[in-house]
Amino acid sequence: MAENKYNGFSTRAIHAGEETDRRAGSTGDVVVPLHLSTTFIWDEPGRAHSEFEYIRSSNPTRNAYERKLAALEDAKYAVAFASGLAAENALMQAVLRPGDHVVAFDDLYGGTRRLLEEVFQGLEVSYVDLSDDEEFDRAVKPNTRLLWIESPTNPMIKVCDIAALARKARTKGILTVVDNTFLSPYFQRPLALGADVVVHSSTKYIGGHSDVLGGALVTSDEGLHEKIRSIQNNAGAVLSPFDSYLNIRGLKTLAVRMERHQQNALRIAQFLSAHPRVARVLYPGLPDNPYHQVVKRQATGFGGMLSFELEGSLEDAKAFISHLRLFSLAESLGGMESLIELPSLMTHVGVDPEVRRAIGISDTLLRVSVGLEDADDLIDDLKYALGD
Ligand SMILES: *Cc1c(COP(=O)(O)O)cnc(C)c1O
Repeated sequence: MAENKYNGFSTRAIHAGEETDRRAGSTGDVVVPLHLSTTFIWDEPGRAHSEFEYIRSSNPTRNAYERKLAALEDAKYAVAFASGLAAENALMQAVLRPGDHVVAFDDLYGGTRRLLEEVFQGLEVSYVDLSDDEEFDRAVKPNTRLLWIESPTNPMIKVCDIAALARKARTKGILTVVDNTFLSPYFQRPLALGADVVVHSSTKYIGGHSDVLGGALVTSDEGLHEKIRSIQNNAGAVLSPFDSYLNIRGLKTLAVRMERHQQNALRIAQFLSAHPRVARVLYPGLPDNPYHQVVKRQATGFGGMLSFELEGSLEDAKAFISHLRLFSLAESLGGMESLIELPSLMTHVGVDPEVRRAIGISDTLLRVSVGLEDADDLIDDLKYALGD
């Protein structure tokens, strides 16, 4: 069981999973050390010196990170992988067989789509708009094994009712997975809403500084955890000790960073909503957003990701981007610095144009990862690029 004896999120983020070593003769490290040793001694054949034998199977720094992340998701177990997609791949290995059917949000992360379609062959996948949970009822088949949720999605920032969907899935014996990368455990804890597994790309908010690639699977289901752990050890996509160390460091400031990401996002969403050159703003923190109430019910915040559509053409969108000085034109998200991207030519260029249009990704839709800079400076930059 993860150490859940601390109640507050920040207290757990700072202390859970890494106890100060107060044993006689210990150094008394306050921060969990970065353990790089790939192998560990045995006292005699058949008797290992400690619980550690080989770095792929178990590593003290990675274990500390996993304990901390589990504590923050109110879960029993977390398993840290070399990337978000490595984590997703292990989960699919653990639960899916050829012939299984998966129901997934239509506005799904592109890499997840590619795993389901190209890496795992022989699956049936239905992409539906889960913001209407009756779409799930219509999509379910006798061979449905898995429900794959993201909430909010990107770039359309759609939200679904996680508890309602997980309840429906459970009655049909379908496993519910929530990719919680966007809100992070600070704002949303899907296991408490009835999900079976949480997926993270810790490359985003958990790492938080755009300098570490990682992923994780979090669950309280012991049987599933054992399978995941075994696949991780046998297939080898573990998180390195250094990356584990950086993720521990990231988690400690997650709460303060998420608060600031959200404050800045709300300021920017309000500014853009009032601007005549902006056709629409997609951010659930705005009270008139269709998902505002659902997010209030199931999460404690709206996060730092938003999208907006400019009036005009693709050329107008490109011109706008070329005038930005503070927002960097880049994919990815969740770091300290504000990023902007044009999904139709960047993150979602590989999605079939028909599908793109059906989802609502227009040529002037822009996605923003709002960083931790001063909101006034970010708004000044947008004003300039909008020609004010
Ligand atoms: C980035 C991302 C992933 C993939 O994670 P990697 O760490 O890049 O492998 C999965 N889901 C979401 C929502 C993401 O943003």
